[in-house]
Amino acid sequence: MNDTAALPPNAVIGIVGGGQLGRMSAIAAAQLGYRTHILTQDASGPAAQVADAITLGAYDDPAALEAFARAVDVVTFEFENISADALDHLSRHCPVRPSGHILRISQDRLAEKTFLSEAGIPLAPWHAVLNRADLHDAAKSLGLPLILKTTRNGYDGKGQIRVHDAAELDNAFDTLAPHPLVAEGMVDFASELSVMVARGTDGTIRCFDTVQNKHWQGILDLTLAPAPVMDAIAQDAQTLATNIAQALDLVGIMGVEMFLSRSGTLLVNEIAPRPHNSGHWTMDACPQDQFDLHIRAVAGLPLPPAVRHSDAVMKNLVGPEDMALWPDIVATPGHIPHLYGKEQALPGRKMGHVNLLFPFGSLPGEFGIRAALGSLATRCAAPDLAEQDS
Ligand code: AMP
Repeated sequence: MNDTAALPPNAVIGIVGGGQLGRMSAIAAAQLGYRTHILTQDASGPAAQVADAITLGAYDDPAALEAFARAVDVVTFEFENISADALDHLSRHCPVRPSGHILRISQDRLAEKTFLSEAGIPLAPWHAVLNRADLHDAAKSLGLPLILKTTRNGYDGKGQIRVHDAAELDNAFDTLAPHPLVAEGMVDFASELSVMVARGTDGTIRCFDTVQNKHWQGILDLTLAPAPVMDAIAQDAQTLATNIAQALDLVGIMGVEMFLSRSGTLLVNEIAPRPHNSGHWTMDACPQDQFDLHIRAVAGLPLPPAVRHSDAVMKNLVGPEDMALWPDIVATPGHIPHLYGKEQALPGRKMGHVNLLFPFGSLPGEFGIRAALGSLATRCAAPDLAEQDS
C-alpha cells in the first residue's frame, strides 16, 4: 500500500495499547468495515475483547513488534506511555498515524512546551527545572504558588505538586521523579476547556465543538458540550487546536486541553494525540464521533464535518463507588451507558461513562444537570457548576 491511498474495507488497523480508547476505536473501525489488531499486554482487556486479533507482548519487545507489524496495514496508538522508537521501527513496515515524532513531543512536557511556544501557542508561564537552582529561579520568575510537574508519565493529576511557599521548594524537588521537571505559574482559571481536532491525510481539519471539563479528585468527571462560554472564545479555542494540528502535521485525532483565564485568555495546558476522554460525548451527540474521525484519518479516508446534533453532558464512571450506581444508570431513561469491560473496579479506575443528551442549544445549568444526573449527582463535580449559573 502506498502511504496516501485509502485503506480498502477489511484492511487491518493496528492499535498499540489495549485500554478503553483502543476498544472504542476498534468498534468504530469495525463499523467502517475494517479489522483491528491490538498490541497489548492484557489478553482479556477492554480492546482485546472487541478486536479481531491481538499480539500479546510488551510495547518495546522486538519480537512482538515484528509479529504485530507483519499483521497490520497501518498503525495507531491509544495511549502515550509507549516507546516512540518502537513506533519509528513500525513505520518501516507501514504508515504510523499519528507519527512517532508527534508522540515524542506529547509524551514529554518540556518538548511539548518548547514546541508549542515556538509555534506561537499561548501557554501558562513555565520554566524548565533541570536542577535545584532552576527551581529557585523559577519561583522568582513565576512567583508563588507554582505547580511543579514531572515531564513524563503524568496523568489524571499525578506527577505534580503545588508549591505554596519557598520553604516547600526543596521538598517538592526531591519528591517528584524522574527529573527533569517543569515549573508552571498557577493559572487562576475560570474554567477548563478542550477541543478534539482531527486532521486527515489530505490536510483537512475538523474540530468538534469546544467543551468544558470538570475534574473531581484529580480525574475528569464531567464534560459539558458545548462549553458555556461566548462564541468568540469557543472559536478561538478551535483556532488554537487547528494551528497545533497543522504545526504538528497531525494525521488522526488529538485532544487539546486549555485553561480559560478569568481575564478571558486561553492558555493551552497539554495535547494528547489520540482519542481523549473529553471527546466521549461525541459518541451520542454527533452523527460521527471522535473515534470514527480518528479511524477515518488513520485509514486515509476523507473526513466528514464534525457536527453536533445535540447538547450533551458526559459523566465518567470511576471506581467501585460509581459502579455501585450501575443498576440505577441502566434503569434511568436518557442515561446512555458505555462500559469498558474492565474486570475489577479499583478506586480511581475509569470503568465507563454515561452520556446525557439535551436538545441542541438547551444545555441546562447546574440545577438542570444535577436533576438529569439523578443518583450520579451524589458523586460528582456538579456543585462546582454553580459558577456557571451565576
Ligand atoms: P495536567 O496533569 O497538566 O493535565 O494537570 C491536571 C490538572 O491540574 C489540570 O486539569 C488543572 O485542573 C490543574 N492544573 C495543571 N496545571 C495548572 C496550572 N498551571 N495552573 C492551575 N491549575 C493547573
